[in-house]
Amino acid sequence: MLFYARKRFVAKARILALLHNRPLAKEIWGVDENQKTWEHMMALGDVVEIDVSAEPILKGLTIPIPLRSLTLVRAEERRRFLHLIPPSSHPERTVPAKATAEPADLATLGRDDLFRALASLKTHIREHRPTRHKPITLLWSIGRLAQGKGRMVDWETFRAEVAPLLKEFGQPDSRVTPEYPFWHLRSSGLWSVEGVVGQGATPTPAQLASAHARAGLGKDAAAILRRSLSRAEAIGLLCSTYFADIDRDSLLERVGLAGYTSASGEPPAGGGGSAKRRTVTSSQPDRDQRLVEHIKMMYKHACQVCGSRVETRYSHYSEAAHIRGVGKPHNGPDELSNLLCLCPNHHVEFDRLAIYIDEDWSVRRNSTGDILFELRRHADHVINKKHLRYHRGLCGRV
Ligand SMILES: [Zn+2]
Repeated sequence: MLFYARKRFVAKARILALLHNRPLAKEIWGVDENQKTWEHMMALGDVVEIDVSAEPILKGLTIPIPLRSLTLVRAEERRRFLHLIPPSSHPERTVPAKATAEPADLATLGRDDLFRALASLKTHIREHRPTRHKPITLLWSIGRLAQGKGRMVDWETFRAEVAPLLKEFGQPDSRVTPEYPFWHLRSSGLWSVEGVVGQGATPTPAQLASAHARAGLGKDAAAILRRSLSRAEAIGLLCSTYFADIDRDSLLERVGLAGYTSASGEPPAGGGGSAKRRTVTSSQPDRDQRLVEHIKMMYKHACQVCGSRVETRYSHYSEAAHIRGVGKPHNGPDELSNLLCLCPNHHVEFDRLAIYIDEDWSVRRNSTGDILFELRRHADHVINKKHLRYHRGLCGRV
């Protein structure tokens, strides 16, 4: 475990045990106004002060800077950066390292492998920012799958479609080189290239053209990404990992994935920046109005997130929110198990993926992971957790 302060790692420690012990936590820290305490604990040993610049490590792991909360790093990623951390005075217990297979050599790619690969794309670092060639290209290929197109494309088509995306959404100072992701995405283990052999330098566009090269998502990756849940999770993950600071609505719209930036699938209301955004008239399929009334009555208009009831002159006001949007692109069901009763503010925050509901019903802020509330649930309201998982996927919380 590394401790972070002001862009430096200032201490390291070894995690000896993970504990869940509410009485102990209560004894040490007491409880807050909601009777909550810090009951999930870590026992640390070998705490040593260090002083290491955090930037190269966080960038290499594509973790946003500054680091804001507890962030877990997988063992194999940690190993890549171990040499940057000063060794302890007593030798670290060495774990025999297995010969790590190159991702490209994986015989079959599993779901976890896919998400791990998506989260740790090797990107060029230019001016302290990773270039976006690879994530843009992957998003484009996921868009193709979503539209029912084939996974492999020839170089000319690839160039014609991907180059304008790189120009518009790449880092301002990075060159438009579609041949780079076409060729180098293979190292992610998610991509295959046909017609050209070799591992070396990037072939020139002319070489790719004369070889009639084709490229696209690997078979296994494509099979996983054709499933709606995995697709939502992959898009959410790519967006939160690589596109935090660009107009995701227009990027997703350009690659045929409009609607994935909100739970409802509707474009953001009221000004999103892009002047050329099309005007969308509501194309929502008919909702069952009785369900809407039912859920509002069940909660007596109290928001399931914050509990507040918006008062009106003669009654109260609340909104029925679908967890997984009905209609394109999410195709969620119009039923009570896919509905929440929310106040207008939390409806917007939920729909625009600023908050999400965790496995244990805690409502968390997506930017920090902080717990804000516990979701209020009526005894007669059975919420389908699969829909919450889909929503978390859109939030980039795989
Ligand atoms: Zn609320």
